Amino acid sequence: MQNQPLTKTALLNKCDPFLDASEASLLANRRGWPIIGPMGEHKEPVDVLIVGAGPAGLTAAIYTGRALRSTLLLEKGLPGGQLNETDLIENWPGYTEAIPAPELMTQVRGQAERFGASIVLGDVSRIEPGDSYHTVVTSQASFPARTVILCPGSRPQELPATNAAELKGKGLSYCATCDGFFYRDKDIIQIGAGDSGLTESLFLTRFATSVTIIVRHPEGDPNAFRASAILQQRAMEHPKIRFLWNRAVESIEGESHVTGIVTRDLGTGAHETLPIDGVFVNIGHLPQTDFLKGTIELDTEGFIRTNEKLHTNIPGIFAAGDARVFANHYAQAVVAAGEGAIAAIEAEKYLAR
Ligand SMILES: Cc1cc2nc3c(=O)[nH]c(=O)nc-3n(C[C@H](O)[C@H](O)[C@H](O)COP(=O)(O)OP(=O)(O)OC[C@H]3O[C@@H](n4cnc5c(N)ncnc54)[C@H](O)[C@@H]3O)c2cc1C
Repeated sequence: MQNQPLTKTALLNKCDPFLDASEASLLANRRGWPIIGPMGEHKEPVDVLIVGAGPAGLTAAIYTGRALRSTLLLEKGLPGGQLNETDLIENWPGYTEAIPAPELMTQVRGQAERFGASIVLGDVSRIEPGDSYHTVVTSQASFPARTVILCPGSRPQELPATNAAELKGKGLSYCATCDGFFYRDKDIIQIGAGDSGLTESLFLTRFATSVTIIVRHPEGDPNAFRASAILQQRAMEHPKIRFLWNRAVESIEGESHVTGIVTRDLGTGAHETLPIDGVFVNIGHLPQTDFLKGTIELDTEGFIRTNEKLHTNIPGIFAAGDARVFANHYAQAVVAAGEGAIAAIEAEKYLAR
């Protein structure tokens, strides 16, 4: 194993469920990550423990590190979070040209480490709130912490269609804000007719020649849309948008890039292949918050509830980024990073009280 190149997928598989400390160090060193700290029991509480090293968690660590607070990040996968799954990012401020997203996150990670934050591989399984400190538990160790910032992010709900996983990032996108720009003068399909799906469809009309929205219900069915009336009206009246009613998506066509989709008419059962340049999917996000159930207040979909200063229901525990209610409506790296900064400043105030 030692002499073989390590792919991101291999590393992620390796990280799930856990690496032991020596494996983690070995793999991290081979990736050029000077990140892995000791996995042993931490006896002294750290000032700030951050769960998740995506844009929210790493930004929080920059702030708490610069405030001279001892800062530990626990990350179960690749530091950098969801942005490791995309090639280029064009809407992070400070760069005139598009930059590779994983490279950006390497820089953010380096910035957090420059201010003293340590990143440890570990999958947090529960949090035990306490009076003077909280205990954050992984299968390998327990970490006492005076404050905790929860930044576990979310995942777009994947399209349950044949070939969808293979063509993700190759013409099948889960983020119109991120990728719409690449579809100028193209014909695209939107799957999902909720508020986000219709908002993203209207956004995509700026670039695309046509946007076809696939709806699982017949035209006129009261359940056809899960979107507000004003968005429905705008979408219905838009000259570039058309609807295909009562259809399910069976498979995505293409090898190196999307070339079409196969739909099934839910009334007649007939299949139809539609040639297409790109597919956008917006059927919801799944927050990575199972480990918080029963401890931290979540909404009905599992997103973390906070007040406007990002305090959760437990004093000394804060939340930021895509896993939090409100931010999940935007699902953008710069929003998550901004929330990481707010949560860190609030944690600092809590520690200094
Ligand atoms: C394909 C794709 C392309 C995108 N493109 C763009 C773009 O161009 N521009 C843009 O602004 N945004 C883009 N986004 C959205 C952006 O990546 C997210 O909004 C942002 O990453 C959210 O940051 P976060 O820190 O809240 O969560 P995440 O990035 O999801 O990070 C959360 C981290 O927490 C870790 N974690 C979760 N649970 C645990 C646990 N129990 N224990 C330990 N660690 C845990 C995860 O492994 C992960 O690394 C894209 C997203 C995707 C999927």
